[in-house]
Amino acid sequence: MSEFAKKVDDIVGNIYKMLVAKNKKYGNSALKPIRVFSKSSNVEQLLVRIDDKLSRLSNQNAGEDEDVIDDLIGYLILLKIAHTEDDGKCKNCGREKFEEVDEFVEACSHCGYIKE
Ligand SMILES: [Zn+2]
Repeated sequence: MSEFAKKVDDIVGNIYKMLVAKNKKYGNSALKPIRVFSKSSNVEQLLVRIDDKLSRLSNQNAGEDEDVIDDLIGYLILLKIAHTEDDGKCKNCGREKFEEVDEFVEACSHCGYIKE
């Protein structure tokens, strides 16, 4: 394994451990939020968290807080997972009713989001 490959393996391995540990500790709350008040979709909630981390990064010197970078990478991976999961809800607004646009396409009846 090259020096570069070792560094990548080390960093990816640490992110992997962090994500699995957090999933064990907090359950699947990032991908299956309880939603008492918020009705936004999993994807929308993750985007808000990602924006929050990006905002924190932009307000401090780069590299000052490695935890923020790790969290950001973690949320981006969760976003990739959320994109692959179909829970029957609109990925934009989190509601459940779709209407047919044509034979192959469905759109959310609330926000018009086209279902993939
Ligand atoms: Zn919608």
